[in-house]
Amino acid sequence: MKKNTKLIHAGRDKQFTGAAVNPKLVRASTIVFDSVDELSKAAQGRDDGVEYYGRRGTSTTFALTQAMCDLERAAGCYVYPCGTAAITSSLLSFLSAGDHLLMVDSVYEPTREFVDGILARIGVEADYYDPLVGEQIKQLIKPNTKVIFLESPGSWTMEVQDVPAIVAAAKRADEGIVTMIDNTYATPYNFRPLTVGVDISIHSATKYLSGHSDVMLGVASASDRAWRQLQRNSYELGQCASVDDCYTTLRGLRTLPVRMHHHHHSAIEIAQWLFDQDIVDHVRHPAFASCPGHENYARDFSGGNGLFSFVLNTTNEAAMTAMLDSLIYFKMGFSWGGYESLILSANDFSRQRTATQWKGSGHVVRVHIGLEDTADLLEDLERGLRVFKAHL
Ligand SMILES: *Cc1c(COP(=O)(O)O)cnc(C)c1O
Repeated sequence: MKKNTKLIHAGRDKQFTGAAVNPKLVRASTIVFDSVDELSKAAQGRDDGVEYYGRRGTSTTFALTQAMCDLERAAGCYVYPCGTAAITSSLLSFLSAGDHLLMVDSVYEPTREFVDGILARIGVEADYYDPLVGEQIKQLIKPNTKVIFLESPGSWTMEVQDVPAIVAAAKRADEGIVTMIDNTYATPYNFRPLTVGVDISIHSATKYLSGHSDVMLGVASASDRAWRQLQRNSYELGQCASVDDCYTTLRGLRTLPVRMHHHHHSAIEIAQWLFDQDIVDHVRHPAFASCPGHENYARDFSGGNGLFSFVLNTTNEAAMTAMLDSLIYFKMGFSWGGYESLILSANDFSRQRTATQWKGSGHVVRVHIGLEDTADLLEDLERGLRVFKAHL
């Protein structure tokens, strides 16, 4: 089965859908049993997709987790109320006091806050590493290293990691090291980390998987050897997600390919235009050679999406404010992966980068290219850059 077909058919077993196309929406806290025998049978299957108690999910949840397992080639998948909960629960599932964590320096900021906050408080030692470290990660592995965490491309600065090299080096150094990746950017449509040996692939389903800016949801899909520990610990942490959000995310999955293609092609056209502007120093789009780790993207990913950054050749806060205020279609807002275009700007990464130093020439502007007509978005950005220059 090819990947578009898989996205259409995954998680649509008759047990979930009945006669309908989509799964039944089963909202429940309590599942009731008529006999002791029924109850004990459910207890035996409760870790393997049998309805038992609402917090463990209902058939709607299991339709989504089965679909994710299929897409990620995973042994099991757990759902969380948001991507951040999926990340923190995955880390907590495998780290104890005295353990060492290797965390990528370009990681999503709330992940860093968790590492420096709660993980530090409970005695987990962490070192940040250069996203472009590749197989040299072996130099950083310590006897107590338990987890290596990746995120590719990196948040904002978009460095693409050599995932297979890092995973291979980890396995050579110590078979017991668990590797985890924040795979939100790629989605399983464009990269399947478990196929190169990663143990846990994590997504903020808030982004492209649900795809319409109306859901908060996280998922973590695990390899055979990591699944039971992730499941047991996530359960002990009380993690669960709304079945309505699972349903909506499943619906989002069905249109993922068409959305991704539009986002990607429109983003490439816009990035190319930005590349040619005199005020733009360089474009940080993984498909462009100017993006660090571009060769890893070209080798491992089967496509991109609407998210990328570009770096201006100067910094001027007043000009940036005027530019952002002048835009019509690009709204400022957090998150990405919905159908709408978004923009944010930053230039101080001193608190978000500790193993490496950001030496950009000016503002980093991160855009999410939505599903609007590319020509309208280009016109908006052209106006924005004109306003920026007029204020210099
Ligand atoms: C948004 C995001 C998250 C967090 O997801 P939430 O669902 O907002 O908690 C994690 N990682 C990346 C790369 C993200 O973009």
